[in-house]
Amino acid sequence: MTPFVIPFFIAHQGCPHQCVFCNQHAISGAVAGEVTAGQVGKEIDEKLAWPRRAGRVVQVAFYGGSFTGLSRPYQEELLGAVAPYLAAGLVQEIRISTRPDFISPAIVEYLKASGVSLVELGVQSLDDGVLEKSGRGHTVADVEEAFAVLRAGKMQIGGQLMVGLPGDSRRKAMQSADRLAALGPDLVRIYPTLVMKGSPLAALFGQGLFRPWSLDLCTAVCSCMKGVFDRQGIVVARLGLQSCETLERDLLAGPYHPAFGELVLGRQYYRMVRKRVVEAKKDGGERMIILHLAERDRSLFVGMNKANMARYKGRDLLNNVEVVFDPDQPRFTVEVS
Ligand code: SF4
Repeated sequence: MTPFVIPFFIAHQGCPHQCVFCNQHAISGAVAGEVTAGQVGKEIDEKLAWPRRAGRVVQVAFYGGSFTGLSRPYQEELLGAVAPYLAAGLVQEIRISTRPDFISPAIVEYLKASGVSLVELGVQSLDDGVLEKSGRGHTVADVEEAFAVLRAGKMQIGGQLMVGLPGDSRRKAMQSADRLAALGPDLVRIYPTLVMKGSPLAALFGQGLFRPWSLDLCTAVCSCMKGVFDRQGIVVARLGLQSCETLERDLLAGPYHPAFGELVLGRQYYRMVRKRVVEAKKDGGERMIILHLAERDRSLFVGMNKANMARYKGRDLLNNVEVVFDPDQPRFTVEVS
């Protein structure tokens, strides 16, 4: 069962950088101003009373910004506010997000001693050219080093990737997925690059110096990247940004869709069906093929706005094919008979 997450957004605090895409306030929906220890305690008290947290691991997550770049007293204030709940067994995990170059053995020791068990790194790309063009201020070597230090400290590691950054390409995005998978993260998040008002990317976009990827290209590439992680049993915890009012208000351009994850899964599902049908037709010639799909995957098979139906039709894939939706078929599998 997924953890019951109590999130706090530390918007843009603790970060001396300015990545081209970053407009943390718009993305997180957070407002300027520091989260205080008092707010942390109050929020945890409120959320612990929610019925749907029953029986689930409770995780406090400090998202956004670069947690380990905050002043140490402020980190202590936030983590200290969670400490009594950890000690009482009411909260089981703390997760933070930070930059790869804000990790060191001493930092990991401090985080562990404070109850942090999962560190999410803003990797974004594993191509030095893309990182440089995106103003990240760290290199691929920094990412590899951060993974090694976190692994040595027995921390769980999350890796966030972005698709369609300046200088990115389909090939580089796939290489980033391959390289990140090889580092063995415990979970991954994949986000499309969006042009947000007030970000440096907005200026480049306005000058015609940056062109965001289309939604179609982005979902196609993300579906292949997800396949890389799926094959290695690495959890893809999120595809696309959480939609919120501020994001939609500040969005200038780019491959945004409120159900981006669903589009990616639909695309992945289409490729899986295509592969199995092509193989079966190769083996069986003109013979009738029966595809057994999970009942719960019906909408993925059809695709959003019937997009997959148009794809099957465009390739004549469903000729001589009968589709059976079976409640006993495991999800995301195809049985051919
Ligand atoms: S490191 Fe993170 S918080 Fe800092 S500018 Fe880049 S994306 Fe924004």
